[in-house]
Amino acid sequence: MSKNRIRELNDAFRRTFRGGRVMMTSGVYELPECVKAEALVQVTRFSEFTADNDPHDEHDFGSFDLVGRKFFWKIDYYDKDLVNGSEDPSDPERTTRVLTLMLAGEYCHCRDCQRFTGSAFVSAMRLPVDAVSVQGELKTVEVAGSSGQVIRRHFCPNCGSGIFGEPYRPGMINVMAGTLDDPSVFVPTAEVFCDYAFSWLYDRGERPHLPRGFG
Ligand SMILES: [Zn+2]
Repeated sequence: MSKNRIRELNDAFRRTFRGGRVMMTSGVYELPECVKAEALVQVTRFSEFTADNDPHDEHDFGSFDLVGRKFFWKIDYYDKDLVNGSEDPSDPERTTRVLTLMLAGEYCHCRDCQRFTGSAFVSAMRLPVDAVSVQGELKTVEVAGSSGQVIRRHFCPNCGSGIFGEPYRPGMINVMAGTLDDPSVFVPTAEVFCDYAFSWLYDRGERPHLPRGFG
């Protein structure tokens, strides 16, 4: 498999959106048309590949800031029927490229996130799996997410804290923002699965907001 050929095909697809499919996550889809259009232009113009964001030199991932939000784009390789992964991403006859445009930080209100946290929603930061290293032991459960797809949830077996989830998109993980050493880096840019959101979440101002807990 030729890495150079894969990179050429990825660049050609990303610059023209020909030779594959372009998807956006629900958080991106909800944005105004002009922001979506500009985001797609930024994808085609992206050139800041580094050893960090492109360790395999395949030009399959990038990120940029736009209207105060951080966007990611990522190219995955599927077979012609979009069922399994491609056996040879350097062969366009046997590969359908899928470019997904997504936002870095999202609240998820789905029932599965509510069950997993025992709370109202998950605040998750979407990152490429290559960019994250984990030390220590994690336990894993597989659950059916509200999307109908299987999600793998990883948590600390000692304290029970959820650490990250692996949604159905290969190569990406959702890191639970509350577990970050510096949680201020997380800025939610979209809320997803809002059909499941608790209605009381949005009546702010009707409850006392205390700087600490009850004494
Ligand atoms: Zn969820």
